[in-house]
Amino acid sequence: MVNKVVVFWFRRDLRLEDNVGLYNALKSKSKVLPVFIFDEEILESLPKDDARVSFIYQTLSVLDETLKTEGSSLLVKKGNPIEVWKELLLTFNITAVYANKDYEPYAIKRDTKVKEFLKSNSIDFYSYKDQVVFEEDEVVKNDGLPYTIYTPYKNKWLQNFNAEVDLKEFAITFSDFHKLTTVLPSLESIGFNESPIKVKPYNLSSLQNYDEVRDFPFIDKTSYLSPYFRFGLVSARKMVQFALKTNAIFLNELIWREFFMQILFHFPKVVTNNFKQKYDVVPWRNNEAEFKKWCKGETGYPMVDAGMRQLNKTGYMHNRVRMITAGFLCKHLLIDWRWGEAYFAEKLLDYELSANNGNWQWAAGTGCDAAPYFRVFNPEAQLKKFDKDLLYIRKWVEDFDELTYPQPMVEHKLARERAIATYKKALN
Ligand code: FAD
Repeated sequence: MVNKVVVFWFRRDLRLEDNVGLYNALKSKSKVLPVFIFDEEILESLPKDDARVSFIYQTLSVLDETLKTEGSSLLVKKGNPIEVWKELLLTFNITAVYANKDYEPYAIKRDTKVKEFLKSNSIDFYSYKDQVVFEEDEVVKNDGLPYTIYTPYKNKWLQNFNAEVDLKEFAITFSDFHKLTTVLPSLESIGFNESPIKVKPYNLSSLQNYDEVRDFPFIDKTSYLSPYFRFGLVSARKMVQFALKTNAIFLNELIWREFFMQILFHFPKVVTNNFKQKYDVVPWRNNEAEFKKWCKGETGYPMVDAGMRQLNKTGYMHNRVRMITAGFLCKHLLIDWRWGEAYFAEKLLDYELSANNGNWQWAAGTGCDAAPYFRVFNPEAQLKKFDKDLLYIRKWVEDFDELTYPQPMVEHKLARERAIATYKKALN
């Protein structure tokens, strides 16, 4: 068999720079074989032109090209991870596998299985913190229990933070990659077509006054980092470093990201259940025809419709409008947050289980640090406050000025009273 190698297994860390697992693999004495596995179990449920798969594929192509200029290449496989590992073990003389930790319930299960399989073949599996600055047990209450409220979590995060230690850079050397000349399989051979929906480049150039502009969807000056975070094209450490120099409110958002990640890790039940169990009795109306109107952006509330249409067309929605559309579904229509969460999961380019679930539960009032049930956004008041010149609305709701534009599907005052009464009755 060929010379001994160690594998670096790329997952949601698709970058060569400042990558902790890759850095450690390259520091080992053996040459590093870079591998990516398209996991069949995840791909199965996705449409054939899924924009996230196209984005991942395009990113892998760039990684592969860069590795090729250094005499290596990226080995890309598709299948059930254990089956792929069996095949890799037959082809290469692998002594260890390096990866970065992933905190989602499915990934934890997968990694446990792979670790056991590798162990039974006398191969070590090393995994590293890379996705976050602080992982699950590093920012906890004095009694060791996880925080469930953001502000004290953030305070402890900042208290624990030491830039010199926590933002140390992990620079890599190319000379230690295994020589390899594989050809990247085509997207079609993986079972997918290129999506017409593309991920926008991220933009860090206008975040100095992030706190002043972030709430206005027509200004559209947030970072657009979210898909890059999701698939690890950017380093969380580098972004925190940037935020420290740029804007404290922007840093707060990066801490929200880590907050929801640790919530999902410590409370995996949130994937299917309310964080606050007492909300289990809320009798959702779950009207399917109303849900369809919401999905299509035909509610007659322009701020809600603009958001849903932006999402359907681009795979993105501005954060302020995510809050408004989610609140509208849960409160005005009394539709179970899980329906909305699933729809966002299908459409969002930046779909992240922890953030999506955490924010949906926030909107529904069922979450750990949620909006109280009696706070019901008024979509018209939100419009006046955040898009008073109707610039965002006119961009996404083409028929806004036409007679055919629908009338509001529910009257705000009645819907608000119905929501509060329903929640109140259920919770008492
Ligand atoms: P910026 O405002 O530039 O923020 C920078 C980064 O901070 C983001 O990229 C993200 O990583 C993080 N961040 C910002 N706000 C939040 C937040 N409220 N919670 C957690 N992290 C945050 N974000 C996702 O990444 N994936 C999701 O699936 C997702 N679903 C959401 C669902 C709902 C109902 C709501 C209200 C919010 C959701 N968010 C989600 C959070 C937020 O809307 C997006 O992170 C943000 O709009 C992405 O755009 P940006 O990168 O330009 O954000």
